[in-house]
Amino acid sequence: MSIRNSVHLRAAGLRKRYGEHEVVAGIDLALEAGECFGLLGPNGAGKTTTLRLCLGLIDPDGGEIEVLGMPVPARAREARRRIGVVPQADNLDPDFTVEENLLVYGRYFGLSEPEVRARIPALLEFAGLGARAASRIQTLSGGMKRRLTLARALVNDPDLIFLDEPTTGLDPQARHLIWERLRRLLAQGKTIFLTTHFMDEAERLCHRLAIMDRGRIIARGAPRELIAGNIEPQVVEIYGDGAERWAREFGQARSERCEQAGETVFCYARDAAPLVQDLERREDLRYLHRHANLEDVFLKLTGRELRD
Ligand code: ADP
Repeated sequence: MSIRNSVHLRAAGLRKRYGEHEVVAGIDLALEAGECFGLLGPNGAGKTTTLRLCLGLIDPDGGEIEVLGMPVPARAREARRRIGVVPQADNLDPDFTVEENLLVYGRYFGLSEPEVRARIPALLEFAGLGARAASRIQTLSGGMKRRLTLARALVNDPDLIFLDEPTTGLDPQARHLIWERLRRLLAQGKTIFLTTHFMDEAERLCHRLAIMDRGRIIARGAPRELIAGNIEPQVVEIYGDGAERWAREFGQARSERCEQAGETVFCYARDAAPLVQDLERREDLRYLHRHANLEDVFLKLTGRELRD
């Protein structure tokens, strides 16, 4: 297979402007077949707009997009027949049952009722809703609705699945179940394009990811590469009233850098042993010594200030 055939989505120089605001400011993307690619970024970074551009739901102001070998938006409708979409908010039809929601959605893809009916048992099993075919949507928990939305996105047996913040608003149990289902899809060879602002989700699921901020991609790579390339390997988090003073008088000089966020001081170090040795003796301070993770990289690159 040529390299070109193994790319399921390619965007080059992609731009989108709303009024004076360039929301997507010239980005390049390439998703390999069978990979989970994550687009991370703070609120307003331009992630959803990027997804919508790639789906051909809005037109770019510049750049090129190719999805499953087809130019978008020119052949977006055709491309979307082989794509599954899980939007940010569940948009299941509350007046219909679980099964009716799958039937109606299948019809959008031009599938006949018998064709969709034949797929429903497997979709319900995937959603863990085998016994709920006749249930009304209002009776489902948030996690069940999310799993149904995911199963619904598979009704056309897509090659490429877009997920916009798939686990926002779910409790930890429900999130783990969604992750397990996404791993199943990857094991089946599906390609996943995911946006999230949960770093643990990205670190668990994504083979590669890009961090987006203010319309631009500011870092990209495999999660481990991003961590190794951007941040010191060890972190000590120090909590409590005396944390800032401790950092000033002791921590800063013995680590590569210390940052304060609220009541917590984060000290980043190549070797955290001297910090930990000292903290063990301090009864007034609580601390956590851990490996650096993707969230540390994200906060270093995008800053700790709030975004709305
Ligand atoms: P993210 O998904 O990363 O949170 P979005 O792509 O939703 O970011 O939004 C990026 C920016 O574009 C935001 O500032 C948002 O307000 C703006 N935006 C998105 N859609 C529109 C629109 N249809 N009209 C005007 N501004 C928009």
